[in-house]
Amino acid sequence: MPQSNQDNPLLADWTLPPFAGLKPRHAVPAVESVIADGRARVAGLRDAESPDYEALVMPMEALGERLHRVFSPIGHLNAVTSTAGWRQAHQECLARLTAFETELGQDEALYTRFQALARAPDFGRRPPVERKLVNDAVRDFRLSGVHLGDADKARFSDIMQRLSALGACFEEHVLDATDAWSTDVDDEARLAGLPADLVERAAGEADRPGWRLSLDMPTFLAVMHHGRDRSLRREFYEAWVTRASDEGPDAGRFDNSALMEETLAFRHEAARLVGYGNYAEYSLATKMAPSPEAVSAFLEDLAGRARPAARRQLDELAALARDMDGLERLEPWDVNYYGERLRERRYEISEEALRPYFPLQQVLDGLFDVAGRLFGVRIVEREGVESWHPDVRFFDVLGEDGEPVAGFYLDAYARAAKRSGAWMDVATNRCRLPGRHQLPVAYLTCNAAPPGESVPALFTHDEVVTLFHEFGHGLHHMLTRVDLPSLAGIEGVEWDAVELPSQFLENWCWQRESLDRFARHWRTGEPLPEELFEGLVASRRHLGALQMIRQLEFALFDLELHARYDPDHGGRVMETLGAVRERVAVVEHPDWNRFPHSFSHIFGGGYAAGYYSYLWAEMLAADAFGLFSERGVFDSGAGRAFRDEILAVGGSRPAMESFLAFRGREPEVAALLELYGIAA
Ligand code: ZN
Repeated sequence: MPQSNQDNPLLADWTLPPFAGLKPRHAVPAVESVIADGRARVAGLRDAESPDYEALVMPMEALGERLHRVFSPIGHLNAVTSTAGWRQAHQECLARLTAFETELGQDEALYTRFQALARAPDFGRRPPVERKLVNDAVRDFRLSGVHLGDADKARFSDIMQRLSALGACFEEHVLDATDAWSTDVDDEARLAGLPADLVERAAGEADRPGWRLSLDMPTFLAVMHHGRDRSLRREFYEAWVTRASDEGPDAGRFDNSALMEETLAFRHEAARLVGYGNYAEYSLATKMAPSPEAVSAFLEDLAGRARPAARRQLDELAALARDMDGLERLEPWDVNYYGERLRERRYEISEEALRPYFPLQQVLDGLFDVAGRLFGVRIVEREGVESWHPDVRFFDVLGEDGEPVAGFYLDAYARAAKRSGAWMDVATNRCRLPGRHQLPVAYLTCNAAPPGESVPALFTHDEVVTLFHEFGHGLHHMLTRVDLPSLAGIEGVEWDAVELPSQFLENWCWQRESLDRFARHWRTGEPLPEELFEGLVASRRHLGALQMIRQLEFALFDLELHARYDPDHGGRVMETLGAVRERVAVVEHPDWNRFPHSFSHIFGGGYAAGYYSYLWAEMLAADAFGLFSERGVFDSGAGRAFRDEILAVGGSRPAMESFLAFRGREPEVAALLELYGIAA
């Protein structure tokens, strides 16, 4: 260990991260030390004759675990106390780790060692967990192009780097195009319907009277949902759907057209290089859905069922628009506006009316009670655990025998320099390796409004759902019984199955039986009134078919774009979108609509040929919850089965096997359709 690392708290043998003494200056030296140590160990494995399973896998698991241990607190502090120091430390560490992972992924000698294990005569008789680990490793090596000749390998690496640069550039164009546009309004009547705080923020200065509206997401959504002035809605729609394209007010200025062509071409080439027919096949190699054909069949089937209902819903909106405002034709910029008016007419429910029923501590007690009834755990607070902020609390999770099985930090309130939103992250993985035994620990982060002087912190129902969602991820991580960190909890779980436990747990926010345990007015203790509850449940399905059709349009477009790419014909982006819309959509968009040019999920983020995952995981969650609809929401047999067959096994076996074991059959779409209010 270099001199500078002797007192580095990150490298100490801690059970919970030593937050009190951590400084940004500890980050890079700790990560560098673990990488150097890792390199030496890998060299040892490379030189070993033919290591058996234990001799190869255990050191690799230990290495992954050490890298994670050291990096996790850095990533976490960067998210919850984002100072310039942590931001820079985080970036520098991330760059070093990514480079080291690429190096490992292309290590031929290591690949040969894993391949030898997979080819050993007794491999078929090894325990399933071991087989999964070795098979995943071999697959991932090949997906990194380890088996290619030198020229192809170099080409593959080059393409991957280009793709990551193209993705970043795509994102920048979208951001710049969004920032570049605004519209000045000088007639106050045009702002009718918009929220008062938004109008206030848009108000000009002495030298610029009137209002300036920008294209940020909250403003855009507010105009589309609540702006009474139709021409303003049209103006926003046009600016939004032509961002970063060859159309609209900034046509050609940030145009992503060429980038998209290049991206699709490179993805196709990369997939072909490592042995797949197209990028959709490459993407699905690591997912639960068996093939592009299966995904396509899943989506087309849903579209066939949802489309008639979506048409009816659109007709309803058109009728409402005619009644209210004499509109002859409902345009795309009218759909959300009249959708909201219909919601108001039907349900008379608001987030603010619900808020007094969800004080934070009561919601937490309810959540822990639900987890206890379903999965047999008990959750108790532990005082005095060191953390990064005085508001942070720590909880132990005890198993049925009263022994601790996991723990988690809860950082509930919004504050400056903390990333927005809610999420679950891994602090430590469960691990039982020679020399290291540790329990899984999670970070649960929310951004609730802090309590007032005389009022407790109150959640909206939406925030309650989000908390349950993230805690579902947390339980997946914490209730694992897998001892190998790379397959424990959410590690090694297919991308399109990861959202199963989280979406599953959301269901307990929508049931009378569970809500009665924690939804009580903080002042009077009165339970949620029946009409509020009914409005809440009914509004969950508001215009469900239209929502689903929109998701299907995106998912099919993404899949076909990648599955049918042909180098002789190029990307055919608008052509593919047109064909999908023709077949699936019910809202007709103008031909200058350039939605793909800002579709960051698939061109900038990690959802390429994977956008379907949202609906896929939702199907799994709805179908899994179906067992509780049949047997009762607190049926402990079903709860224990979910714990044992889904949560406890984590990534140690394919997600489809886990689902089969829990449900006794393959997933079906009926429950998803019901959730969206679509007749099966
Ligand atoms: Zn999630």
